[in-house]
Amino acid sequence: MNKIVIAVDGYSSSGKSTMARELAHKIGYVYVDSGAMYRAVTLYALRHGLASAESGVYVEGLIRALPLIHISFSVEADGSQHTMLNGEDVEREIRGMEVSGLVSPVAVIPEVRHALVAMQQAYGHDKGIVMDGRDIGTTVFPDAEMKVFVEASPEVRAERRVLELRAKGADVDYDSVIANIRERDRIDTTRAESPLRMAEDAVLLNNDNMTREEQMEWMLNLYKERIADNGCVK
Ligand code: C5P
Repeated sequence: MNKIVIAVDGYSSSGKSTMARELAHKIGYVYVDSGAMYRAVTLYALRHGLASAESGVYVEGLIRALPLIHISFSVEADGSQHTMLNGEDVEREIRGMEVSGLVSPVAVIPEVRHALVAMQQAYGHDKGIVMDGRDIGTTVFPDAEMKVFVEASPEVRAERRVLELRAKGADVDYDSVIANIRERDRIDTTRAESPLRMAEDAVLLNNDNMTREEQMEWMLNLYKERIADNGCVK
């Protein structure tokens, strides 16, 4: 059975991770959240005095520490995927506002990107993978058979993110969440190395007015088309 590579890129909190994860689950593919990898590197930097909200990122120190940072994913009994940093489950910690505030400045560092892109490409070696991020269709898998670019307005994204964080028990307010989303959009789209942009052969999905079920149906239809285009057997 031939499998394809599926790249899902888009803006922060556009719902791309949820869609990518659900699609992978439905079609029996591996799911990789590339943003979690940048978040894990950021957490390492925060814990080791290589980054702080006050002074930003100590770039040289973080580059030197890169060989000491090992990221992997574990699949829990309930099927959820947890990010592991040097063997420790950091899934909860990497989603907090402290990491969110520093992850985009960490992700602009070319050495960090090169290290993580190499790992991501290795995950996709055997295909049968859905990966979401910012540069998956442009840099990580430029030959991916299916590419989706997800967008939604900053207001809709902030509302969704506030609900998600509050559901996890975090104490967050709308203004700081939307400010963080706008700032990450700015850094992600303007950085020199692999900026966030839609690949020429990606299909745009604006999900402002779509339910989760509608988005999944849209994804599955595109997947079926791509499978047929590539002569793959489902
Ligand atoms: O997807 P998520 O919002 O968790 O990603 C966190 C941050 O990691 C993004 O704002 C972006 O700065 C960075 N990122 C990236 N390239 C990726 C995935 C994430 O630069 N492929």
